[in-house]
Amino acid sequence: MTRRLLIAGNWKMHGTSGALAFFADPGINRTYAGIDRLICPPATLLRAATEAASATGVMIGGQDCHAQAGGAHTGDVSAEMLADAGASHVIVGHSERRADHGERDATVKAKAEAALRAGLTPIVCVGESRADREAGREFDVVGEQLAGSWPDGGTGDTVVIAYEPVWAIGTGLTASIGDIDAMHAFIREARGGDQSLRILYGGSVKPANSGDILGRPEVDGALIGGASLTAESFAAICLAAAD
Ligand code: PEP
Repeated sequence: MTRRLLIAGNWKMHGTSGALAFFADPGINRTYAGIDRLICPPATLLRAATEAASATGVMIGGQDCHAQAGGAHTGDVSAEMLADAGASHVIVGHSERRADHGERDATVKAKAEAALRAGLTPIVCVGESRADREAGREFDVVGEQLAGSWPDGGTGDTVVIAYEPVWAIGTGLTASIGDIDAMHAFIREARGGDQSLRILYGGSVKPANSGDILGRPEVDGALIGGASLTAESFAAICLAAAD
């Protein structure tokens, strides 16, 4: 089965309104055969990004959502609010959320279920720490996160998984091709061999390494932090991914 690659950018807490010039760049305003493109800007830019991206074919997503549709949760944003602002996807369980906000698998699962409820595609992040890998526990840890974070009612068509080894995020280090192959195969197996499930790799993906990583049969796209912040590097990765 051929799965379309998803090239997803996570802008994290970067960007004010000037960042929207990204969507006017010629590298963003061209077609890339066979891939889907997504940018997850800060929540403050969601609506404006939806409008700025409307003619580009780039989809817009949130970086997190609350599990509930609404209520007394100061500072939080619901999946329904993201959808209302034009989002199609939402990242849940990013390692920075797990570390900075103490999010556990049960919370990630509830957020992913909220995304489905609102008609969004959750991108559920899993990945081991450096200590886990050095202890040879990476498959145990990722298997546990996957089982605990997978939303009830989710299928390979409605959920995306991002494998992001924590030690590779923002560090310039990437997992080896062999390690990526092995973990992606493990994740698919853990999901019953579901051939429709897209499994992204994330962790210091950049133009120089994207061709090798995205060329692997078990890699269905990338979740990109730093290299998604400029149109030039994001477009170069999209070019490496396109047919
Ligand atoms: C990320 O934020 O999910 C990520 C992979 O970041 P970077 O590409 O900068 O390592």
